[in-house]
Amino acid sequence: MATATEARPALQRSLQTKMLIDGQWRDSLSGKTFETINPATEEVIARVAEGDAADIDLAVQAARKAFDSGPWRSMDARDRGKLLAKLADLIERDIDALAELETLDNGKPLNEARNGDLPLVVDCLRYYAGWADKIHGKTIPVRGHYFSYSKPEPVGVAGQIIPWNFPMLMVAWKWGPALAAGCTIVMKPAEQTPLTCLKMGELAMEAGFPEGVINIVPGFGPTAGAALVEHPGVDKIAFTGSTEIGKLIMRNASHTLKRVTLELGGKSPNIVFADADLEKAVDGAMLGLYLNQGQCCCAGSRLFVEESVYDQMVDRMAERSLNRRLGDPFDPNTEQGPQVDREQFEKILGYIEKGKQQGARCVTGGERFGDKGYFIKPTVFADVKDDMAIATDEIFGPVMQVLKFKDIDEVVRRANTTDYGLAAAVWTRDITKAHAIADRVRAGTVWVNCYDVFDAAAPFGGFKASGIGRELGEKALDNYLEYKTVTIALD
Ligand code: ADP
Repeated sequence: MATATEARPALQRSLQTKMLIDGQWRDSLSGKTFETINPATEEVIARVAEGDAADIDLAVQAARKAFDSGPWRSMDARDRGKLLAKLADLIERDIDALAELETLDNGKPLNEARNGDLPLVVDCLRYYAGWADKIHGKTIPVRGHYFSYSKPEPVGVAGQIIPWNFPMLMVAWKWGPALAAGCTIVMKPAEQTPLTCLKMGELAMEAGFPEGVINIVPGFGPTAGAALVEHPGVDKIAFTGSTEIGKLIMRNASHTLKRVTLELGGKSPNIVFADADLEKAVDGAMLGLYLNQGQCCCAGSRLFVEESVYDQMVDRMAERSLNRRLGDPFDPNTEQGPQVDREQFEKILGYIEKGKQQGARCVTGGERFGDKGYFIKPTVFADVKDDMAIATDEIFGPVMQVLKFKDIDEVVRRANTTDYGLAAAVWTRDITKAHAIADRVRAGTVWVNCYDVFDAAAPFGGFKASGIGRELGEKALDNYLEYKTVTIALD
């Protein structure tokens, strides 16, 4: 099964495994390294420099210098934009190799990396390249004989901590607005998937970003990540990951009163009314849950189906799930690859067991696929009750919960009975129902008759425990700006 995955020697020869600090590729100060694993074969791809507090300190010093006295803050905004556009061009040039590397390190099907993630990466960087010279303040009509204006300024050194589910896309979502706003960066990629972030660092150097503007320190959360959050030289932390770690980061960042934005977990309701185009609703439910092996913070993992079409929907989900093609992520026919690592794999299997124990009906899947690699069969649970663990907790895997509802008031109440509020979707031909759901569900994104539609221009983020702040769009620039008010006496 894993032949195509194993036959990638050229890719492995050109790996970047060092950390990027002040424009230099270096080993960690401790000399330590960690393994990154191919989740399709469970084999080691490479050993990567393992940063900890001392490396973070060096990186922060470099970012501080590039911001405080270096070239970045004083560079013309238009030239900053040009560098971002150049980086987008270079990624487009190397798009095939980058997609392969993403698949090798993360396990996502190559088709998705190449035609889903990568085009969004390029688009995002180009979008923010366009913003760099369009960030400006307003004049303010204050009382009295004064001239007053607002002046947005970069917040300073941004510490950015990202997860492993969309490694390169998360880099683009973080770098784009930070660099357009004029910040410098210390990034810590996820320990499971550092390789494409480091490649993007190489391309940033090739594009001509000045030394110290972009620093990358691979390593683990409790060491490198925590040091970044605590470092007094960092002005802002942008984090994407689990709600549990998000809370910890917010607490730890409070000692130095850093600005914090968080993009966290979800348990998103996907609501299907009986009057929907059911074919499309099935497609949308499949995409909404199984995209990226179910490893999406906005996964539609609570599928609420109106009573009269419930059985039909369960049958169709089961059939489609059973026929999903699992296997080597480099095979162009593969629809689902492995989960990212053993820890996630075991956690998901644990939830499947809990679902069975708590009395949900497992209609398909429910176990490992094959005996090598972290593959899990697409799993559908019917007769799910709102208080079962599989209906309340973020599973982050290919496990679908199908719940039955009777009317709109009931489904709104149940959809909102969660600590999360990242995304929601509704399927109906009735425009009034669609608007009612969009209005009443407490979530940062609502999709109507579609799912997982992302665009660099459209803000994304969570209500409630799903986060603080928004990524993408004009809104994300605010994450990286301070607003200064200047008032000048005219007498
Ligand atoms: P997941 O459960 O999806 O792996 P995490 O929230 O654990 O998500 O991790 C997301 C990112 O946060 C990773 O880069 C990880 O290394 C980092 N991280 C984990 N723990 C901490 C911590 N205590 N402080 C800072 N970063 C952390």
